Amino acid sequence: MPQAQIVARSALTNATFRPILGDVTQQAGVAVHPWRIENRLHLSEEELACACVLLDHARHQQFFAASPCRSQFKVGSSVYCGQGRIARGSNAEYGAGPRRAYDEGVHSEEVAIVNALNHHGRDALMEMIGLASDAVTPSTSCGKCRSLLETYGKPDMIIVSVGTDLSATMWKLSELLPTELTSLSRFPAPEIHDEHVQALFAAAERARHVGFVPFSKQSLGGSVAAIAAKGSVFSLPRIDSLAFYGTSSLRATLSAVLLHNPRKLECVLMSSQSGLPTGEDRQLLFEFASLFEQVDTLRVYLHKEGTQSVIATTPSALLPLGFGPHDLDMNLART
Ligand SMILES: [Zn+2]
Repeated sequence: MPQAQIVARSALTNATFRPILGDVTQQAGVAVHPWRIENRLHLSEEELACACVLLDHARHQQFFAASPCRSQFKVGSSVYCGQGRIARGSNAEYGAGPRRAYDEGVHSEEVAIVNALNHHGRDALMEMIGLASDAVTPSTSCGKCRSLLETYGKPDMIIVSVGTDLSATMWKLSELLPTELTSLSRFPAPEIHDEHVQALFAAAERARHVGFVPFSKQSLGGSVAAIAAKGSVFSLPRIDSLAFYGTSSLRATLSAVLLHNPRKLECVLMSSQSGLPTGEDRQLLFEFASLFEQVDTLRVYLHKEGTQSVIATTPSALLPLGFGPHDLDMNLART
């Protein structure tokens, strides 16, 4: 890493960041760490100072993380909302105590964004978020949180993350959640009249017509997935839930595929109104592709409903630098 790109906290003067953050850096309990930030986005000195303060707060928030049920993975977040305003959050899993039956949790980014909305209103300009986790090197947000940041953050919001080794790096959200269909192309487009591709479309259409989608309707209700594995094609419908506990077509279909104990997935078709999978489905696909060591090789066909256009991409292109088992120091590969 070029030395010029490394900025240590000690190089920044209080005078630099006080004008943008006010007294927030003086709040009790916020530790000061010598973050080594890779300034790959060429942030100004003020922006770097802001990033350092967000990392201080994010690291502090890790003390409040509650992850007793499954992961033991503590994450803290802090989001900068402009005019010296910061909101913070940490992750929390459900099911502590003798009845550890649940497998649910809220992520630190979700808590921080909700806190920002509660305290600073919908008009708060969320322009940068800091993350601190138990991963040795800086980890990224999961797919679902990337969608959340896209919803409430400024366009090209900056994510800055630090690992336990004190190294930190940064990305623009648009790098982590690409939304330009053409930029996702990694293979030549499939021939839409090919028999194999037609089988995927036929299965997806059957699932589309039987889905239980009274709430998501055209937004997600029209989103279906079909997966080819072991020489067969699988596609199960989406199930909505009034309480947002719905099951996406991709999630249901992956369960069906697992019943057949495949050694790898042949290809995946995802068809929706926008042509783009949700952040949650991108995360799920990335994790499953990790199982089969196919994050860079699995062909994922993205189809925009009502068109003949199909893009051929990969799980790693849909979720660049994906949050996966490696962040928790796990290797779940089946191959
Ligand atoms: Zn997340």
